Amino acid sequence: MIVPFCGEYLFHPVPLELSFGDCGYGCAYCFVRLNGSRVRHSAVGLANALGRARGRGDLTSVLLDDGYPVLVSNRSDFLSPRAWDGAARRGLAVMTEMGVRCAFQTKGGTRGRLEEAEGTLDYKAVWYWTLTTLDEGLSARLEPGAPGPAERLRCMEWLAGRGHSVYAGFNPYERTWHGGRGAEMARRAREAGAFGVLMQCLHLNSNQRKRMTAGEVGACGADAVGRAMRKRMCEGDLDYADSLMGACAAEGLPFFCYLGDGGTVLFDRYREVYGKVFPTIQDAGNRLAEGAGDERIVGFGGFWDALTARESPPRWGGDMRDYVASLNREMLYDQALSTRGIGFRGVARLMWRDLRMKAGPMFRREWAMLVGDDYLPVADADGDPLYLWRRRGGLPTVIPLGRLSEYSALSPETA
Ligand code: SF4
Repeated sequence: MIVPFCGEYLFHPVPLELSFGDCGYGCAYCFVRLNGSRVRHSAVGLANALGRARGRGDLTSVLLDDGYPVLVSNRSDFLSPRAWDGAARRGLAVMTEMGVRCAFQTKGGTRGRLEEAEGTLDYKAVWYWTLTTLDEGLSARLEPGAPGPAERLRCMEWLAGRGHSVYAGFNPYERTWHGGRGAEMARRAREAGAFGVLMQCLHLNSNQRKRMTAGEVGACGADAVGRAMRKRMCEGDLDYADSLMGACAAEGLPFFCYLGDGGTVLFDRYREVYGKVFPTIQDAGNRLAEGAGDERIVGFGGFWDALTARESPPRWGGDMRDYVASLNREMLYDQALSTRGIGFRGVARLMWRDLRMKAGPMFRREWAMLVGDDYLPVADADGDPLYLWRRRGGLPTVIPLGRLSEYSALSPETA
């Protein structure tokens, strides 16, 4: 079913997602399978459920009624034969009939399936196209059911030629998979019509590693799997991330990378295409960057104002439990925490003030938390932490207020 895209709040501008059944591409690194989850849909069940998706008054329904797009799909590939024939063909047609617009994430399928899907739409969409390597042989081992990289690039070019917005996902990326051809990947993506690149390195937790077969570890590379499990990236990986970002910049491609400095306009394309989107943490940085100065000490109020300068998430009085759980399930065991009626502002405030919530400002290099000599956060009058926002980002991400001048042109008195 269509569900709120809770885990990507403040990261992805599309607030809803729909996955059409197991895709069967069998990617060695597939987080859906390695997390032990499955995605099942029948065409009839899905069509019936979509037909009832509006006018119910729950959050999904409110977002659909307000014209927000739906991401297809984060946990499957809708162009795989299994998903397309199973439910996606009918589901996409029903959504177009309902006036629901979609954004897509895919590795593609046959050209005929892509043309059929595109022909179902009565609008131009944003398409994110995964590109893990240019090596056809490696791609066949890593993603055995999916089309190879040359075919993906051809499909991107065809879509871009049809007026769609296409960008590349080097996601996951792993330097050994690129084989020294990272700059060529960026160039080939641009030549195929990509307007930007999103990159995220391969990362695995121990449970996911346990579920990998020997063949999957072999396909990824035992060394790559070992590095993907580390909490900290090693120097070689950081250098490679820098070189990949440099390659995108050299091609004139806006990019997003967790390790990148400064803001990005990559996600602005969703706003331009769909009009109605959720704010992202990048928006906050981009708005602050429009002001004078390279640094600013910011409290939560200033952050929320910058975040929502262009659009606010809807007012919603229901329970935000699913959002909090997606960002850190353990938070739900916190007896002092209420998720009822806190709204999207309340979830953002939790991300601002509680380091247990993933994807808050502390996870972006533009933001550094100000702490006292005891390393406890320096709070404003509302008890919310203060952060130093830096146009270019960088390290460290925690700065003792008494040593602010060592890292910034600002003085502690500014706080
Ligand atoms: S295409 Fe995506 S959902 Fe399908 S197996 Fe690969 S990683 Fe998993």
